[in-house]
Amino acid sequence: MVSQSRPKVLIIGGGFGGLFCARRLGNVDVEVTLLDRSAGHLFQPLLYQCATGTLSIGHISRPLREEFARHRNVTTLLGEAIDIDPAARQVAVRRPDETTYTLDYDVLVLAAGMQQSYFDNEHFAQWAPGMKTLDDALSIRQRLFTAFEIAETLPPGPERDSWLTFAVSGAGPTGVELAGQIREMATRTLANEFHSIEPEDARVLLFDGGDRVLKSFAPDLATKATNTLQKLGVELCLGVHVTDVRQDGVTVTQKNGGAQEQYAARTVLWTAGVEAVPFARRLAETLGVDADHAGRIHVDPDLSVPGRPEVFVIGDLVGRDKLPGVAENAMQGGLHVAACIRRDLEGKPRRAYRYRDLGSAAYISHGNALLQVGPLRLAGRLGWLAWGFIHIAFLTGLRNRVSTVATWLATIARASRYHRAFMLGSDGAPEQRYTWTSEDQPAQPETPPSGSGVEGREQGIRRPMTITPEDVRRLLAAGDDAQLVMVEGRTAVVTGDQLASDGYRGALEIISRKDLLARTGGTGELSDAEVSAEASALDAAVNELGG
Ligand SMILES: Cc1cc2nc3c(=O)[nH]c(=O)nc-3n(C[C@H](O)[C@H](O)[C@H](O)COP(=O)(O)OP(=O)(O)OC[C@H]3O[C@@H](n4cnc5c(N)ncnc54)[C@H](O)[C@@H]3O)c2cc1C
Repeated sequence: MVSQSRPKVLIIGGGFGGLFCARRLGNVDVEVTLLDRSAGHLFQPLLYQCATGTLSIGHISRPLREEFARHRNVTTLLGEAIDIDPAARQVAVRRPDETTYTLDYDVLVLAAGMQQSYFDNEHFAQWAPGMKTLDDALSIRQRLFTAFEIAETLPPGPERDSWLTFAVSGAGPTGVELAGQIREMATRTLANEFHSIEPEDARVLLFDGGDRVLKSFAPDLATKATNTLQKLGVELCLGVHVTDVRQDGVTVTQKNGGAQEQYAARTVLWTAGVEAVPFARRLAETLGVDADHAGRIHVDPDLSVPGRPEVFVIGDLVGRDKLPGVAENAMQGGLHVAACIRRDLEGKPRRAYRYRDLGSAAYISHGNALLQVGPLRLAGRLGWLAWGFIHIAFLTGLRNRVSTVATWLATIARASRYHRAFMLGSDGAPEQRYTWTSEDQPAQPETPPSGSGVEGREQGIRRPMTITPEDVRRLLAAGDDAQLVMVEGRTAVVTGDQLASDGYRGALEIISRKDLLARTGGTGELSDAEVSAEASALDAAVNELGG
């Protein structure tokens, strides 16, 4: 039995950092709780292979419960950390059914990672999924394969061409990998399967604001990657920013201020930026600790929060010494914090964290990858073999390793992709529609019920939506002129200036922060129950409007 007197270590996030920290604490005299909003550890570096049908979601994720089944002092829990009370040393957690519970800690390790950032253009997300979670990978898989299917049913012309045009924003490793894989899918896997269209004609456009792809790699490797991508047929559009994303395409603007250009593309994928997950921002705010523009938290040399030796931050969320957002930094951070905890128990001083750069790798195409380790640089087939070995070595779980190698070998032998299945909704499940594009049909203007706090603008809402307690918390935590709005089927908390901009034309104003404070007594200090009650009331008002 786990003794109740052991120090309680709460790790938030079972990604690379949290996993390695919990594993290392598995033989230390502490009681570890590993909390994650998903039930599995996700191997993000192979997400794009899942999105493009080479691997299944099972290959790249492993249940945390299975991973820690043999560690008697490690408990894994499903739930999303939403709030922290540093005085009581408690974290509030939301279950998937929206109910909440609290977890106590003596030591807190924040390993919650980053999410996709749309640089304050949240409405892009409806048409341009990011690439951070299993849901993202499945959404991208659905869009990619559906695009070819829809094109097959259309007569030749601009509409069909736009379904066969794929725009990827961001030419870092993820964007490069995705763009290359889409062309390979079109030219190798799908080439002989269609009758009306020629999948090989599919255009893949890769946009980036920089002057070369793969900025984190040495210039000579980036040049090799460029040549390979161009041979594959990927069209590189560098020195431009994607400044608008719509159902039917993107607008790009020259970085140096030239004219805007429109591209008709029915599939847009976003890999251009990252920002801290909401709980990390909440923690930084509550503890009064500095964070950079993307929400990375400033920490002391031992990775603890200044003035809070019991709170550590690891992985992508660390805002110190320009540490890179790579798996190796998260794993080393996890091991380092576990060592600090052990040294605390032994009464020894903590050591400063030192990151050892073990290099980076990127997949470009079949038989072509880059590897950069200190002065060693590999490209082409050698790089590809090294890339394969490294990824297999770090993939979590022996079964996943064996089945991934077997799947890769089969894919190499037959150019097939065995995991192309994707979900489509049904008429009987309104929350999961058969098409995603119907959400963009112009909605009829609606008159809001008086006194609901919901003011209609140019368009009504397009589908029943859910205002969550998290929306209410985000609004309360925002600035004085903030508004909670609904735009393109999503909620967003925006400033007055943002709301007046083109990006939010047609947004539905749900409630302003000022009105919310007025409704709830003015202090903004609401209990979980009060926040949930406000969210339900707003949700009901909005759904009434939509219904
Ligand atoms: C598509 C892609 C490809 C990549 N390729 C490479 C690569 O080739 N090489 C490389 O070194 N790095 C790569 N990276 C980066 C690498 O994956 C990250 O640096 C690494 O995952 C960071 O680890 P982490 O522990 O900080 O966060 P993550 O691994 O992101 O884990 C964070 C965990 O926290 C959970 N979480 C988030 N919020 C909450 C909350 N409020 N409550 C509870 N749980 C929460 C999430 O569910 C997640 O499981 C890639 C990343 C992506 C997205």
